[in-house]
Amino acid sequence: MSDSCCGTIAVEIEQFTTPQQTSPGQAGELPVVVIGAGPVGLAAAAHLTERGIDFLLLEAGDRVAASVAQWGHVRVFSPWKYNIDAAARRLLEADGWTAPDADWLPVGAELIDDYLAPLAKRFGDKVRLGAKVTAISRLGYDRVRTAGREEVPFLIRLEGGEELRARAVVDASGTYTSPNVLGASGLPAHGEGAVFVDHALPDVLGTDRDRYEGKHTLVVGAGHSAATTLLALAELENTPITWAIRGGSAGRTYGGGDADALPARGALGTRLRAHVDSGRIQLLTDFFTHRVGESEAGIEVISRDPAGHEQSVRVERIVSATGYRPDHAIASELRLDLDPILGSPRQMAPLIDPNQHSCGTVPAHGVDELAHPEPGYYAVGVKSYGRAPTFLMATGYEQVRSVVAALAGDWEAARDVQLELPETGVCSSNLVQAQEQRVGLATGISGGLLSAPLPLVTVGASAESGGGCCG
Ligand SMILES: Cc1cc2nc3c(=O)[nH]c(=O)nc-3n(C[C@H](O)[C@H](O)[C@H](O)COP(=O)(O)OP(=O)(O)OC[C@H]3O[C@@H](n4cnc5c(N)ncnc54)[C@H](O)[C@@H]3O)c2cc1C
Repeated sequence: MSDSCCGTIAVEIEQFTTPQQTSPGQAGELPVVVIGAGPVGLAAAAHLTERGIDFLLLEAGDRVAASVAQWGHVRVFSPWKYNIDAAARRLLEADGWTAPDADWLPVGAELIDDYLAPLAKRFGDKVRLGAKVTAISRLGYDRVRTAGREEVPFLIRLEGGEELRARAVVDASGTYTSPNVLGASGLPAHGEGAVFVDHALPDVLGTDRDRYEGKHTLVVGAGHSAATTLLALAELENTPITWAIRGGSAGRTYGGGDADALPARGALGTRLRAHVDSGRIQLLTDFFTHRVGESEAGIEVISRDPAGHEQSVRVERIVSATGYRPDHAIASELRLDLDPILGSPRQMAPLIDPNQHSCGTVPAHGVDELAHPEPGYYAVGVKSYGRAPTFLMATGYEQVRSVVAALAGDWEAARDVQLELPETGVCSSNLVQAQEQRVGLATGISGGLLSAPLPLVTVGASAESGGGCCG
């Protein structure tokens, strides 16, 4: 029994002296757990391997890079030379692997087959598939208890109940599995849960063709993913297409056309505008999705703008291309310091805020910007950007290089953060145009602001933000 400000209450103290409580030395002997075998989680594994740090990589899917596999038909816009992590390259080359053509733009499936799958194979049983993390905490500690907190191991619970311990957690679980809702205010539209809504980037011209051909399809969203899907749908005969955006004009999505600094983006926008101008695609502006309902006549989607004005459309299919948001639920017992707008680590937010960085120029950043009050927990990769849409694999690779150096105690290397993205190299116009003619164009970061291009300049830790590819 103990006195407290609220009177005498029973206090259980056993939990704090449990024999399972591990000394710092014991925690240090545990593996680092990496969550998610996407490009960044696998890069973390490569750096841990090089540093000789034991690790376990947990992947929810039944294959590596399960999220990339979802958009396996989509061609990326950054060539191979920016898509391969340096430590991963060294490990693979030591095994006789030959890197793909440095200037080629792979589709997601090629990223997996030619790089990520061979890399995962290199790690053997340190990669566990079908291992979905449902919660992370600290052994014997909830979020409130402080004394000695940093000395006890992390506790990681998997779907099915199995629990693991770790000395540190590198959370590279991405955002692809937590898409934004259709509802215009960030809340699900009324009825959204009861109607089948396709996620962004269905394989309209491939495996999903039958689902869309001849079906009136509504695409919601103003980013690359929406544009990519709309252009693919426009190739299907007898397939009415409606495109709904919240803004008053599609100018941002069209980009700069011929004058666009990113030719691939300009080409995408020019084609899209032509389809809208010709009436092939019906554009609905000021569309604030409010209610969705299905009947025998089809799916009715009702918009209600902030002034209460309504408009509606009746369709047969809906593709939601409204972007992604991070899901921090698995880490809710940890002490996170998140930016209230983006949901990224607070210190990252000014570096990646799409409101301020319309050119998407992201300064180099590493362990210091990724740190939370919870020592030893780092969210990395696209998850670390929260809702900011301009993430690049190359940025994630530098993040995990820095984090792993810090875990190894090499703070000099951890803080020597660099991003080497040449001014025009990531989205080379000649390359994109040449490849487009050979394989057809289908690029995009889903949910991204089409007007917020990617970081394309060499920037060091002290470099100023801004500028870049769009000049
Ligand atoms: C269509 C598209 C095109 C893109 N094009 C480019 C490009 O050209 N260049 C570029 O640099 N970037 C591009 N990106 C952005 C970014 O590089 C990719 O999204 C990249 O896949 C992010 O890597 P990641 O490892 O952080 O996350 P992901 O690739 O999303 O990997 C996360 C992994 O974690 C797993 N996972 C999720 N939850 C759990 C859990 N609870 N437990 C265990 N495992 C879990 C998932 O199954 C997944 O395998 C593109 C993105 C998209 C969607």
